[in-house]
Order: sequence, then structure tokens, then C-alpha cells
Amino acid sequence: MYHDTVVYSILNLKCPRCHQGKMFLDPNPYHLKKIYAMPDNCPVCGQSNLPEIGFWWGSMYISYGLSVGLSVVTVLFLWLVLGWPDWAILSANAALMIAILPLAFRYARGVWFNMFVRFDKKYSVHQ
Ligand SMILES: [Zn+2]
Repeated sequence: MYHDTVVYSILNLKCPRCHQGKMFLDPNPYHLKKIYAMPDNCPVCGQSNLPEIGFWWGSMYISYGLSVGLSVVTVLFLWLVLGWPDWAILSANAALMIAILPLAFRYARGVWFNMFVRFDKKYSVHQ
């Protein structure tokens, strides 16, 4: 079932244990004042959203990887397929990296959380 998968939890930014509780209080990542806001615990299953002090620092590695991966694909596409000049490629890529920052931040947390917390059917109604 799709609801049981890690992909579901990450793409929907749901709690990795129950796949139902929302990870973030504000669903819009572009409301930058609330981008970090997470409930202390999952409102559905009670999973702590801060399993240990400094837990979320590690998600920056994921964010870095996502950004570099997207950047490489973007630059190669603009350079090899569209043949844009260097200044245009660099400008477009910089603008893209800034534009997707809130998304990269949140999805990196989703990936990172799922690396440490496993789905547990007993906390889910999707059975
Ligand atoms: Zn939960």
C-alpha cells in the first residue's frame, strides 16, 4: 500500500511512524516565518519531533545533496540541451536554488526523519 511507504511520508511530509500526523504546523513552506514550526509531538501518534538535541542539524546534509543534485541536472540541461550562455545558466541556477530553498528545507527534514523513524502499523489507521 502506498500509505505504508517511506515515499508517501516524505512527499506528504507526514510523521514517519504513523504516516498521518503532519510534520509542520503551516502547510505552506513559503510562509518563511513559520518554516521551522513543528509540533513537539505528532498530534496523531505522539512521536517526538525532536528525538534528540540537535537532531535536525543532520537534515542539512540531505538538503545539500538535494540542492547539488538538482543544480547539476539544471546546469547540464541548460548547457547541453538549450545551449544557454554561462552567465544565464549561473543566474538561472542561482535563482532556482533560492526559490526552492523552503522546499529543500522541508523535504530534507522529511527524508532525514524517515532515516531514523520507521513506519509502525499499530499507529496507523491505513491498514
Ligand atoms: Zn505520528
